[in-house]
Formats: sequence, structure tokens, C-alpha cells
Amino acid sequence: MNIVIVGAGAMGSRVGSALYKHDYHVQLIDDWEEHVEAIQQNGLMVINEKGKEQVYIPAHLPKDCAGEVDLLIILTKSTKTDSMMKSCLHLLGKQTQVLTLQNGLGNIEILTKYVSKEQLFVGVTTYSAKLSGPGMVEAFGSGKTEIMNVTGQHIEDTERMIQIFNHSGIHATISENVIKSIWNKVAFNSVMNPLCTLTKSSAGVIGTYSHFYEIIDPIIDEIIKVAEVEGIELNKKYITETIIAALNPSMSGSHLSSMYQDIQRGEPTEIEFLNGALLKKGEHNQISMPYNQILYHLIKMLEKGNEQPSLI
Ligand code: NAD
Repeated sequence: MNIVIVGAGAMGSRVGSALYKHDYHVQLIDDWEEHVEAIQQNGLMVINEKGKEQVYIPAHLPKDCAGEVDLLIILTKSTKTDSMMKSCLHLLGKQTQVLTLQNGLGNIEILTKYVSKEQLFVGVTTYSAKLSGPGMVEAFGSGKTEIMNVTGQHIEDTERMIQIFNHSGIHATISENVIKSIWNKVAFNSVMNPLCTLTKSSAGVIGTYSHFYEIIDPIIDEIIKVAEVEGIELNKKYITETIIAALNPSMSGSHLSSMYQDIQRGEPTEIEFLNGALLKKGEHNQISMPYNQILYHLIKMLEKGNEQPSLI
């Protein structure tokens, strides 16, 4: 099977190197030239609990990768899904299967402009990773990945993907309702990413604030309400417990959120695919979401500030 991972950043590098080390025919594609050149010249340095390792995985710019692929795994930020697909049209055939493991709501709608629902697989993963520079990825800890075809069918194809992941050490299962899992992760990220970004703090730090639960409570309530009218039954206790687990510094609680890192790098955040997407659904269903609205606009202000020259 000819596999291409497009968006060879933190997660793409982690997934790609795991598959490559287990003898799958996999290539990385990324439009960050310095990163691609570093991997081509010295291999990808993977840093994890076992130490450091150079993985000599093929890496290319999108234009330099030719031919239809069997499986395209998408791991760009959601903000880049559309432009990435436009630059990868030459890799898509009628038989190409496309798997997104991105966060947020809205990727399925974008991807089905380019491939049929039968070709599209969607997943959610609790694995994490961080790029520490061009050609260098930190891949600590473990996680779980759920995958299903967007139609809920094509079980054999989904099982083949699951097998590839599990054989490569990435725990994966077939899901009966990955959409609900995506919403659960959207709920978590829509609460924690903006709060950590706006306070410039890790989850572990904001969780110790005495009014933390008063603040997150109405944000979660709004998300549950909008999910409900969209036919998704979310469980408040589950979402709150997931947040509590993430506050622990020995888990991911000491890390800075990816949204904060995007703001620091002057990059657009995934806010449009989190609180932004929720607000659109709220507006469509006439549900008022003032807490999410404030988080959304404050992050948009930070993004706007990044676009303008500093006055200080
Ligand atoms: P990242 O920014 O580290 O990597 C994205 C990569 O995509 C970058 O290297 C960028 O150069 C590349 N890219 C952008 N546009 C491109 C294009 N047109 N063609 C080719 N490459 C392009 O992002 P990430 O942290 O790996 O996250 C990817 C997705 O996975 C996001 O949706 C994120 O929310 C989700 N996710 C991340 C983590 C994590 O721990 N990092 C965990 C779970 C899910």
C-alpha cells in the first residue's frame, strides 16, 4: 500500500515515522521547505522515552510527489485543509482513500468537495506530538485512535487501516460513532485552548485557580446545548472529567496549548474549527452562546494583533 502523509508537522511526523519503521511504504509531504530539506538531508529525528533516533523517511514538497496514492493521511492544521487538498489533487484517484485525524468541526465538509464519502475516513486521536525544529519531532506518551468511514460502512477498509496503525504501535480501534468522539474533543479543545492561550498558562496552572470550575461550567453547557440540537448527545460529567485529567502536570498539564503556540508563532489558530464552528451552529439553531462568543472574539483579536506591526 502506497501511503502519503500530508502535513508532516508534529502529528504527521509522529504517525509517519511509526509506520515507516514498521516497513510500510510511506512518504511525508509538507510545504515547509526547511523541514523537508532537513529530513531529506539528515532524516527525521524522533525524540521519545527511548531516546533519539534518526528515521530516514522520504519527504517531499507537494509538487515533487507524483502519482496516485492508495492512502492519504491528512495532518495539516484544519485552517490549511482546503489549500492543502488543492495542492494534492494530483495524488488523488478514484481508489484513493483519505483519512483525516485533524481536530475540529468542518474538515469533513471541506474534504467531501474533493473526494466521495465512500473514500473518506475520519478519525480522532489522543496521541500528541511537538515539533522542536525543522526535521525534529518530540513523540512522548501513548494514546488511542478511533477511525471510521464517513458513511459508517466500508468496515473491511477501516479494519485494514486499524491493522496498519496497531502494527506500527499506534493503538487504534474501529469506531461506531467517531463524530461523537470528535465533538467530545472539540468540547475539550474549545474550553481549554482559548483559556490557556488567553492566560498564557498551561492547563495545570489554570486548573489551580479557585474559580476555574465556575468559568468552564457555562462554556461546557453552551457546547452541550448546541451539540444536542445537532443530534449529538454529549455527557457533561465525561467532558469535565477529561478536563480534570488534563490538569495533572504529569499528564499533558504542564504543556502549553497548540493554540498558544500558534499565536506565539504568528500563525492562524484552529479557533474557526472550534468555538467558531460551534457559534455558527448555535446561530443556525438560534442558540445564544455568549461565553463561547467571548472566547472566540478574544482569540480573533490576538490573531489580528499578530497581523499588525507592533506599536511597542
Ligand atoms: P503542525 O503545525 O505541527 O503541522 C502541520 C504541518 O502541515 C506543518 O508542518 C505545515 O508546514 C504543513 N502544511 C500546511 N499547509 C500545507 C500544505 N498545503 N501542504 C503540505 N503541508 C502543509 O500541526 P500538528 O500539531 O501536527 O496538528 C495537525 C492536526 O492534528 C491539527 O488539526 C491538530 O489539531 C491535530 N492534532 C494535533 C495534536 C498534537 O499533539 N500536535 C494531537 C492530536 C491532533
